[in-house]
Amino acid sequence: MVIDASGFPSTVCKAMGFVTQWKRFGAGAEYEAKVEKVDSETWWLMVGQQYSPAGYAWIFPLGNNIVRIGVGIGKPESKVDPTQRLEELMKSKLGPIKKLGKITPIEFHYGLIPNDGLSRKTVYNNLILVGDSAGQANPLVLEGIRYAIKFGRVAGKVSSDAIKTGKTDESELYPYEKNWKKEIESKIKSAGKVQDRWIGLSDEEWDKELDIIKELKAEEFIDFIKADFGLSNMIKLATRHPKFVVRQLFSLVKGKK
Ligand SMILES: Cc1cc2nc3c(=O)[nH]c(=O)nc-3n(C[C@H](O)[C@H](O)[C@H](O)COP(=O)(O)OP(=O)(O)OC[C@H]3O[C@@H](n4cnc5c(N)ncnc54)[C@H](O)[C@@H]3O)c2cc1C
Repeated sequence: MVIDASGFPSTVCKAMGFVTQWKRFGAGAEYEAKVEKVDSETWWLMVGQQYSPAGYAWIFPLGNNIVRIGVGIGKPESKVDPTQRLEELMKSKLGPIKKLGKITPIEFHYGLIPNDGLSRKTVYNNLILVGDSAGQANPLVLEGIRYAIKFGRVAGKVSSDAIKTGKTDESELYPYEKNWKKEIESKIKSAGKVQDRWIGLSDEEWDKELDIIKELKAEEFIDFIKADFGLSNMIKLATRHPKFVVRQLFSLVKGKK
């Protein structure tokens, strides 16, 4: 019995011929850096062609004048290298980056994150896929650690139960797939819909979209991009929000499809 937790490269299931390389994915480059000044209450997401032709750039304050500054770029939508774009942005000090003053990098992070929705089967005879190998991360907000840990535990439990019964074929392991899909399938689908709406918007289209986003409360926006709202909450926002444009935005993720 094997659990493939090899992340983006999906080493085991690829070697067994069950999957091929993720076709759609995000590439992210990020510096943890010391800066001269930063407002610790403000998180920046920067959109538009200059920041990322298919994605966004970010500045997240961590406290003590430390920030994470990064760029995420969707593949295959754009060929731009996020590391190069990040270096350029830090050099040109575009937009809110200028406010940080001198930036002294401490650590560099680079990674790839699957963005193919629920394209993979995650149980086979004697094999379970977890974490990025299974495509469980939310690529819109680059969040996958808690899912990898949580569903890794479920995979361990289902595997040990199966081993005890002496049956580790696909059908015995299926409760694992059922468990994680029940919890995050709708979130992954919602994130995909939001992303389809946003990826590749021109600067003019972004200006219009930001006019809508401005109508959201901070918590509503965070719920929206994390696809973290419960269905009832989402329907409430989609039907009762005082602003029509916001109702339209939430209607996007409310549908079943
Ligand atoms: C730029 C960026 C920023 C991110 N920021 C966040 C964040 O802030 N919060 C968050 O929750 N998520 C974040 N993520 C996503 C998160 O990193 C992943 O979703 C998460 O790490 C997935 O965990 P995993 O255990 O499935 O895979 P991984 O963390 O990739 O672990 C897989 C492990 O398998 C090992 N491995 C693979 N092949 C082999 C082999 N052949 N032999 C030996 N070892 C092998 C790898 O070395 C690695 O240690 C970010 C992703 C990117 C790209």
